[in-house]
Amino acid sequence: MGEEAPECFLDLKPQTNQSFTFIGDKIYAVGGSEDTTNISTSIKVFDRLTSTWLDLTVFGTKLTPSKSHEAILLNNDRILILETESSPDNCIWFLEVDTPFVKQTRKLLGNEVVAWSKGVIGDGPKPIVISGPSGVGKGTLIAKLMIEFPSTFGFSVSHTTRAPREKELNGVHYHFTERSKMEKDIQDGKFLESALVHGNLYGTSIEAVETVSDDEKRCILDIDVQGASQVRASSLEAIFIFIRPPSLEELEKRLRARGTENEQQIEKRLRNAKAELARGKSPGLFDHILVNDDLETCYQNLKTLLALDEHTNAPSQQFMENFKIPLSHSLSKVDSKILIQSPSGMFVLDLSSLKGGAPGRTRGLRMYATD
Ligand code: ADP
Ligand code: 5GP
Repeated sequence: MGEEAPECFLDLKPQTNQSFTFIGDKIYAVGGSEDTTNISTSIKVFDRLTSTWLDLTVFGTKLTPSKSHEAILLNNDRILILETESSPDNCIWFLEVDTPFVKQTRKLLGNEVVAWSKGVIGDGPKPIVISGPSGVGKGTLIAKLMIEFPSTFGFSVSHTTRAPREKELNGVHYHFTERSKMEKDIQDGKFLESALVHGNLYGTSIEAVETVSDDEKRCILDIDVQGASQVRASSLEAIFIFIRPPSLEELEKRLRARGTENEQQIEKRLRNAKAELARGKSPGLFDHILVNDDLETCYQNLKTLLALDEHTNAPSQQFMENFKIPLSHSLSKVDSKILIQSPSGMFVLDLSSLKGGAPGRTRGLRMYATD
């Protein structure tokens, strides 16, 4: 907190278990409840210049209620919220108040914006973006991953304005949406990315990605090249994989054999495939390129590169499994380290290598005990 409470602070009517963080002319009030056993997940922003509560849009997974919490301002762009007595994987949260994502969304919406992002110890597995021309086999490869590893991977269900195919289920394969509704939601900042693909609007909502993270699964996005480059430019740190066909002739064969598009649509998709294959080679966009010739070989290659990635990103500290911040503790901040002194010893939360953030998890945290 640091700063003296201003006079208007009295107007805030502080509640039990509510924290206040002062940044410039604004005061961020987190939690607070008449019920002393749980803080609510509420967040309010008070403007000291006008002595009013601001109109606020809150993005991200909301923090879980807890008995109490500590709020620590970091770099004036986010507030670290540490929940006491919460389970280890639920005790570290970030309230982003002026990060690039928040700034961009605030500009888009024209009102005050904050975003929650859950903290993850270690680097955690990154979401996976899979792109490639229509008919190359993206859906087939993703389905194989989901069947073999149902508790590891979760599919980001996109929105689209195209009509459902036979056997496609709303909410499972896509959220099938009216164009005007989707355009409004894009305007309202609800989408991580969106693009016009083969004449229809497609997009990944922030909620779609967060639903998978909330399920503690590794998110897979099946999106086109335009979407991939938008995600690359966002704060969602992902692995980008481009799938190529062995030839355009084979791609055409697969699209026709799938039998889900009419002749006109097939021709449009094949025309677009050429441009997509060229964009797939854009420097710095894709981390890996796989050729889907023999399905089993391509699937094995995909698994190998995901396992390799998992290995290099394995969390470095596993001791968090039993860690809880007890009600009785003291906190101090030294540079990018938070020191937590508790009856069972001193713990250090090292925030020097933070990555990611809203929309999605904040990764790269380190936690260790000191003697
Ligand atoms: P996408 O999701 O990229 O549009 P699909 O997964 O729907 O592509 O695959 C298009 C068609 O090609 C499907 O009928 C699928 O069974 C078939 N297919 C996928 N991979 C291969 C492969 N390696 N060899 C032959 N057919 C394939
Ligand atoms: P289909 O109509 O065959 O399901 O998908 C057509 C194309 O749209 C595919 O290349 C697929 O990757 C892409 N696509 C699906 N969902 C999204 C999305 O949310 N965003 C973007 N940008 N492309 C998507």
